[in-house]
Amino acid sequence: MENLLKDIEEVLFNHEEIVAASKRIAKQIEEDYRNRDQEPVLICTLKGALPFMAELMKYIDIHVVTDFIDVSSYHGGTSSTGTVKIKKDIGMDIEGRDVIIIEDIVDTGRTLKALINNLNERKVASVTCASLVDKPEARIVDVEADYIGIVAPNAFLVGFGLDYDEKYRNLPYIGVLKKEIYS
Ligand code: 5GP
Repeated sequence: MENLLKDIEEVLFNHEEIVAASKRIAKQIEEDYRNRDQEPVLICTLKGALPFMAELMKYIDIHVVTDFIDVSSYHGGTSSTGTVKIKKDIGMDIEGRDVIIIEDIVDTGRTLKALINNLNERKVASVTCASLVDKPEARIVDVEADYIGIVAPNAFLVGFGLDYDEKYRNLPYIGVLKKEIYS
């Protein structure tokens, strides 16, 4: 990835650190969901959380089922109401199920809050969230992920699922994009 590295100001989390964080969260999920009646449903938010989902699920040593959702939160005036636009919905009935949202990053918190509201309306038994990255300094809405991989400063990050203009998702690390690329 030498070619793409030239667009990166600073690598904040290398691949080994991302794998270690994924393993740690997998063990926490295992502990927390081991004795439930039904296996938890991992709901991956597209497209950003896909690499994290793939990494994380490999290390969870209990049964899980998986599904995928593509959402965008309404920004602007209605954001605080927690509304979410579903571009692609999950395919299964999750009523009564324990759900774990798999997120790439929690920034303002709008998307996560809206998604939690949406899933609660479907009468799930419980909802938690595992997010690869947390940017607590950027938070506007009062919401926190239950499982956090890495805590990042308030910068624009790319890699391991995080994009700029749909690119850079394929980087095996997370870094700060050079300003000259997007300004
Ligand atoms: P929130 O609703 O918490 O403000 O933001 C959630 C979404 O914004 C993420 O799922 C992601 O798509 C995008 N986002 C927030 N911060 C970053 C960032 O630093 N880099 C990239 N590439 N996307 C981000």
